[in-house]
Amino acid sequence: MKVYFIGAGPGDPELITVKGKRLIESSGYCIYAGSLVNKEILKYCREETKIYDSASMALEEIINVMVDAKEKNTDVARVHTGDPSIYGAIQEQMSELDKRGIDYEMVPGVSSFLAAAASLKQELTLPGVSQTVIITRIEGRTPVPETEKLEMLSKTKATLCIFLSIKEIKRVADILKPAYGNDCPVAIVYKATWKDEKIITSSLSNVVEATILSDIKRTAMIIVGDVLSRNFEYSKLYDKHFKHSHRDQS
Ligand code: SAH
Repeated sequence: MKVYFIGAGPGDPELITVKGKRLIESSGYCIYAGSLVNKEILKYCREETKIYDSASMALEEIINVMVDAKEKNTDVARVHTGDPSIYGAIQEQMSELDKRGIDYEMVPGVSSFLAAAASLKQELTLPGVSQTVIITRIEGRTPVPETEKLEMLSKTKATLCIFLSIKEIKRVADILKPAYGNDCPVAIVYKATWKDEKIITSSLSNVVEATILSDIKRTAMIIVGDVLSRNFEYSKLYDKHFKHSHRDQS
């Protein structure tokens, strides 16, 4: 018996991995994060699978379901949105399973920042512009360490993928303007890969108004950086004058 922490992907039910889907199909229990996981994923459960929505459950209740599954000797598909390793609150679940000697495994998923890039048809790392992508958030109820505050990160001028922060878009824009400049492009992708996906492209100086106008208040990815302006050098990788052995990608 095992608990499988499975990334459901960003929304589109076809964006789960083959392995994740197979494990949902074969597990006797499924606990899914109902606030963000697309319920269409549940169609992969068998008819007799016991299904729980973790949105209204405390950690203790979630662990109790896992203990119950162990007693019945059936696997648990613990389904998280995107990739479970990003803001997934899974470490605490795994610590509790360690204490109880319950075995577990992680199955990665397509994180929403990657889905947002795909929806935008955008490479996040462009030669001569940015070779670094930062996944971050603004502090809310969850604090952010001093050295990782947006003010600090903005000094890198790297491509920023900002989670969990759309309600604070004004603060985000104000903090980033000094380093990135008022004209720096910003993209906001609401519910990337869902049927009601919405995209807005703007600049740091106009993004607050654009967000208010579009009425986006949650489940959105904020991407900031000059890569979005698509002023870049072509990569060396496919340059016929660039000498490399076996297309060395370093
Ligand atoms: N583990 C998830 C993130 C969970 S935190 C992942 O890898 O994507 C929840 C935040 O993720 C949301 O506030 C939002 O910023 C982002 N998010 C999740 N799904 C999204 C989607 N389909 N489109 C845009 N942003 C999304």
